[in-house]
Amino acid sequence: MAKAELPLILKSSLLDQFPFVVHGFGTKYFQEKEMKELSRLKNLKPVFLKQAHSDRFHFLKDDPDFLLEGDGLITSSPGLLLSVKTADCLPVLLFDPINRIVAAVHCGWRGTAARLLEKIICFLINSFNTKPENLLIVFGPCISRDCYEVGEEVRLLFNQAGFPLEGNLFRPNPEKSGHFYLDLRLANRLQLLPLGVEPEKIEEIDLCPHCHRDLLSFRRDRVRRHRLFNFIALINSD
Ligand SMILES: [Zn+2]
Repeated sequence: MAKAELPLILKSSLLDQFPFVVHGFGTKYFQEKEMKELSRLKNLKPVFLKQAHSDRFHFLKDDPDFLLEGDGLITSSPGLLLSVKTADCLPVLLFDPINRIVAAVHCGWRGTAARLLEKIICFLINSFNTKPENLLIVFGPCISRDCYEVGEEVRLLFNQAGFPLEGNLFRPNPEKSGHFYLDLRLANRLQLLPLGVEPEKIEEIDLCPHCHRDLLSFRRDRVRRHRLFNFIALINSD
């Protein structure tokens, strides 16, 4: 087997400044076993979702008793390891350093069109008086626009949700009419800037799972079970 080029876990330099924030975007070599090991080592309770490509999210005070359905997890409680799984879709980690709130979000095209990320930030603003300019937001590995072909129906759905069709969001495939290349990162970025998130506080780990062998891509590998693990947690700092 070829040697892995990437480290086991990809880290954000924005989030790495905070010793009480545990976070990362796992490569394909970081699976359930490694996740369990990390939880044990840091004394964290892992929390997963039954992901549904929706705009639903949950604010957790404690470890939930059953598997919640949705695509975003938020907490201000230390000890909960929030996790979303991806295999092409965009994983997003969020941190409000003033209120000490973290979130993990799964942004596929459906959740993106439904403005999940925007809804989560509005929830933080309304519930905790979060200032968008304080937020640190990290985009993990996500299928690049060169690899992400979608049909006309996806483009129309984004349009109905108020996304601009001009610009770079949907690039037509010159060889196939009615086919477009969707820039999923941009579609999520477009939700952040109008809210007042600072561009220099958005970090992008610019890797495409479809192109990189150390990552997992649904489109490339048709993976049914295996996913990439993306996670964030607060640990007690005193
Ligand atoms: Zn690619």
